[in-house]
Amino acid sequence: MEVTVGTSRIELVEGDITRQDTDAIVNAANTTLLGGGGVDGAIHRAGGPSILEECRKIGGCPTGEARITNAGRLKAKKVIHAVGPVYRDGRHGEPDVLASAYRSSLDLARTAGLKSISFPSISTGAYRYPIDEAAGIALRAARDYMESRPEIELVRFVLFGQQAYQAYVRALQQVMRGED
Ligand code: ADP
Repeated sequence: MEVTVGTSRIELVEGDITRQDTDAIVNAANTTLLGGGGVDGAIHRAGGPSILEECRKIGGCPTGEARITNAGRLKAKKVIHAVGPVYRDGRHGEPDVLASAYRSSLDLARTAGLKSISFPSISTGAYRYPIDEAAGIALRAARDYMESRPEIELVRFVLFGQQAYQAYVRALQQVMRGED
């Protein structure tokens, strides 16, 4: 599925984040930036050791923020490591922190002169954020950012599996209808 936001577009695809050819891909990292499972493990495996080397030098990243590194052997030019919240009950600031992780990533991409970026569904794996809620937050954050920053031409959400993809399709339909 694809929608336009001003002169830019948001795309939803089912697939693997490590295989994307956008200028940047985003990692669902943790605060240590030293690797983990899920998306993080897949990115470091596919990209090779130069990414972790740069992460070590950076020395960590607070929740709700992001950091940028090289992309090793990946097709993307850069990896942006974003740290989403661990979900508790949704009443501990999780929505704001999740939106902030997306905004920080978009800001890093834009200031690095990158025009296209692929996101995984941050926080919906090991961090247990309910995907229907997380999808709305992610898509609103992207749409709002793109409305004021046309330099970002493409934001692609790469969903792992049919269920995740369908959750994002439903959320994007709602967000584009303005039901938010
Ligand atoms: P977090 O710790 O932020 O929850 P995870 O990496 O555990 O991050 O999971 C985030 C989401 O990414 C989950 O929905 C998971 O199914 C999905 N995912 C796992 N591997 C990949 C991959 N290679 N490409 C895209 N999405 C993936």
